[in-house]
Amino acid sequence: MSIPPKFCEILSPRLGGLEPSLSYTERSSKMPEVKKPSAIIREQKILLSRLEQINQLCSSLKQKKLKTLESLKHQLTETNASIESQLKKNKESEQDRDNTLKRLYDKLYSLKNNNSQIIAKIESDTLKLSKIEQENLDLSITKQQLINQKISLEEYLNKIEASNITSNNKLSELTEKESIYKIIQESYEEAYQDYQKKRNESYEELKKLNNCLQELKGNIRVFCKIRPLLADDRTEPIKLEINDKTITVFKAEKVSRFVFDRVFGPSASIDEVFEEISQLVQSALDGYKVCIFAYGQTGSGKTYTMEGSIQTAPYDQAYTKGIIQKSMELMFSASSKLEEIGWSYKFYASTIEIYNEQVRDLLDYSKTLTGFSSSLINPISIEIKSYEDLVPLLIKARKNRAEAETECNINSSRSHFLFQLKIFGKKNNEITNGVLNLIDLAGSERLKISKAQGDRLEETKAINKSLSALGDVIHSLVKKEKHIPFRNSKLTYILQNCLGGDGKTLMFVNISPLAVNFKETLNSLIFARKVNACTLN
Ligand code: ADP
Ligand code: MG
Repeated sequence: MSIPPKFCEILSPRLGGLEPSLSYTERSSKMPEVKKPSAIIREQKILLSRLEQINQLCSSLKQKKLKTLESLKHQLTETNASIESQLKKNKESEQDRDNTLKRLYDKLYSLKNNNSQIIAKIESDTLKLSKIEQENLDLSITKQQLINQKISLEEYLNKIEASNITSNNKLSELTEKESIYKIIQESYEEAYQDYQKKRNESYEELKKLNNCLQELKGNIRVFCKIRPLLADDRTEPIKLEINDKTITVFKAEKVSRFVFDRVFGPSASIDEVFEEISQLVQSALDGYKVCIFAYGQTGSGKTYTMEGSIQTAPYDQAYTKGIIQKSMELMFSASSKLEEIGWSYKFYASTIEIYNEQVRDLLDYSKTLTGFSSSLINPISIEIKSYEDLVPLLIKARKNRAEAETECNINSSRSHFLFQLKIFGKKNNEITNGVLNLIDLAGSERLKISKAQGDRLEETKAINKSLSALGDVIHSLVKKEKHIPFRNSKLTYILQNCLGGDGKTLMFVNISPLAVNFKETLNSLIFARKVNACTLN
C-alpha cells in the first residue's frame, strides 16, 4: 500500500513568501511589503490547485481505509468463530479437567491418608531407629571395651605363657627338691617321734623333779609380803630392814628379826611374786593338791595379793592381776603345751565364803552349805574353758558377797574367801586330779573379846578359832603327828584333803608398812614364824 504524502509536504515548499516562522518583533521591526494584485491572484490559483490535489488524496485515502476496515472485519469474524470453537473445546476440556482433578483429589486424599500413616510409621521407625542407634552406640562401646579386654587378656596370656615357661622350669626344679624334701621329712618324722618319746619321758622326769624340788623347798612354806605405802596412808611408816629371806622390825629399843622362805618388799610386783610360786601352781596341773593362803590383819594387802585390783576397778577397766588370775593364765598356757604330748585338761572353779563357821556358796548365795562332811559341802562349780570365763565368775562372787555383807552387817575382812580350782587331766589311761585352793583369810587382828558383844563376839571368836586351828593343823602336819586336828574348824576341815598327804601349802603373811599397825604386824610375824619354824625343823 502506497503511503499518501503528508499535507505539509504538499503545502509548504510551494507557498514561497508565506514564511510562518517570523516572530512578531521581527515582523514589526520590518515594514510589510505590499504585494501586487496579479501576484495575489496567481498565488490564489496555485492554492486552489493544491487544495484540489488534497481533496483527491483524501478520497483515495478514504477508499483505502474502507477497504482495510472491510478486511479487518472479515478477519475479526473469522477469529471470533475460531475463538468460539476454541471456547467450546475449552469448556469440554475443563469438564475433563474437573473430572481428572476430582480423581486426583481423591487420589491425593487417599495418598494423604497413606502419607500420615507412613509418617506415623516413619516416626515410630525413627524412634526405633534412634533406640537402635543408641544400642548400636552402646554396643560399639562394649565392643571397644571387649576389644580392650581382649587386648589386655592377650597381653596377660602372653605373660602367663612366658611365666609358664619359667614355671615349668621351676616345677622341674621343685619336683627335684620335693623328692629331696620327702627324704628330709621322713627323717624329720622319725626324729620327731623320737623327740616326742623323749619329751614324754622328760616331762615325767620334770614332773618328778618339780615335785622333788617342791619337797626340798618344803611342803609348807611361808612368804612375807609388805604392802607399799598408799597415798591415803597419813601416819608414820614402820622402821624395817629387809633382805631376800629376812625381815627386821624396829620399835624404840626393840628389834625383832624373822626368817622366812622369801620376803617381798613394798616395791615387789605381782609378777615377781608369781615367779616364785609358779612351779607350785603348776604342780596342781600335775595332779597335786595345793593351798595358798593370804594371812594378815585387815588392810595389809591380802585381797590385793589374791585378786589384784579387780575388786576396786570398774568391770571394764584394766586392773592389776592377782594370784588367782595369774594362776589361771598359767593353767591355760601350761596345759596347751601338755596337750601337744597327748594330755587333755578340764578346769572347774567354785567360790565359797566361811563366816562364823557357816559355809556359803558365792555362786548361789541363797545356799548355806551345811554338814560337817566335805562330801556334803558341794558348791556349784563352773567349767572354765578359757581365761575370759574367769572374770565374770569373780565379779559374780564379789557381787553376792557384797550383798550378803550389807544384809548381815558384816564386812569382807571378817570372813574367809576360798577360790577352788579342780583340774582333771587325762592321757590315755593316765588320770590326774589336781586341786588349787587360793584362800583370802579373814583379818587376823585381835579384837578384844571382852569389848566385843553379840554378833561381833561370835564373829571374833570364830575368826580367832579358825585361824589358830589352821596354825595347829599346819604345825601337826609338819611334825607328822598321828592326829591332825582338821575338825577344829570348817576351813581346815574343807581343806583336809589338800593340806594332808602330799599336799603343798604356801602361806603369805601380809603386813602393813605403818607404825600404828606395829602390834598386829608383830603378831602376824610371830604366827608365821611358828608355821615356818615347823618347816625348818
Ligand atoms: P586386806 O585384804 O588385807 O584387808 P587389801 O588387799 O584390801 O587388804 O589392801 C588394802 C589397800 O591397800 C587396798 O586399797 C589395796 O588396793 C592396797 N594395796 C594392797 N597391796 C597393794 C600393792 N601391792 N600395791 C598397791 N596397792 C596395794
Ligand atoms: Mg581383804
